[in-house]
Amino acid sequence: MDDLLQVEHLQAEPGQRFDGYLDVAEMQDGTPARVPMVLINGAQSGPTLYLQAMSDGDELNGLAVARQVLKRLDPARLKGQVIAALIVNFHAFHWHQAFSPVDGKKMNRCFPGRKDGTSSERIAYRLFQGAVRQSDYCIDLHQGGVRPMIDEVRVRVDRRKRIHKACLELGRIFGIGYILDCRGPDGQLARAAPEEGIPTIDPELGGCHGWDESSIQKGVTGVENVLKHYGFISGHPRIPKRQVVVDGFLSLLSNRGGFLEYHADLYDHLQKGDQVADVTDPFGNVLETLRAPEESIFWSKNLRPMVSSGEGVGTLGKNIRHI
Ligand SMILES: [Zn+2]
Repeated sequence: MDDLLQVEHLQAEPGQRFDGYLDVAEMQDGTPARVPMVLINGAQSGPTLYLQAMSDGDELNGLAVARQVLKRLDPARLKGQVIAALIVNFHAFHWHQAFSPVDGKKMNRCFPGRKDGTSSERIAYRLFQGAVRQSDYCIDLHQGGVRPMIDEVRVRVDRRKRIHKACLELGRIFGIGYILDCRGPDGQLARAAPEEGIPTIDPELGGCHGWDESSIQKGVTGVENVLKHYGFISGHPRIPKRQVVVDGFLSLLSNRGGFLEYHADLYDHLQKGDQVADVTDPFGNVLETLRAPEESIFWSKNLRPMVSSGEGVGTLGKNIRHI
């Protein structure tokens, strides 16, 4: 039947939601490693969205976003299909870390995966073949690990590629206000899926341990903006009139070891020479003042307010433009 939504053996009839698990690997004792999946098949036909969370095993915000969005989607009113993989990096998640402890790989360097590859490559392969390739749009939910970072969305396709425009437009529609438009490393889903002609973005929802409610709400609004704009659900997306786009980062390095006292806040639009942080000794004396080397946005900072010499104190988004 044409209208059946299917990911391997998982199925949802038109107008139905299916929650279940996709067995993607085996643990050492033979216990199946499973990815929780949601398939929502709209009563009316339309495009397909693939939503993925926790391909880095310690990035929980994406799971919270996906659950809230999916809970509010009514299959009877949905035009199209939504496929969600909720905890993609099974092994890393169970170890409370970003990388898989089985093969030491970062899942977001493994797409489109390999059938006979390492553990992470095999999981990536199964999801790419089973779910990604039948989709029209992809959203791969991430965050900046546990480091404090602004809420932003990333476009990882080379700007010379034809699909870049559609990816940047998807990022604009997500509407979080800050976009990194910079070709990503090999193996990112946000690069591999566009190779198949599927516009893809990688929202980075802050950085924290556990859940961050404000980042999660921005993520929910972003995914719902996409659903509204591309006709999955009714309603008007809430998209800022002017969004910041940067094309890369500057890493601000300390020349001294000590304690950081930040003068700038995340999201600050810095001019060349603006103070970002002082490095101080244990007695409170200022050893060094670190300043923005050029106009930039204060994008991420350290989890702990201490550094050694030669250690980063934060990243700054560079070459600011607006869309
Ligand atoms: Zn990530």
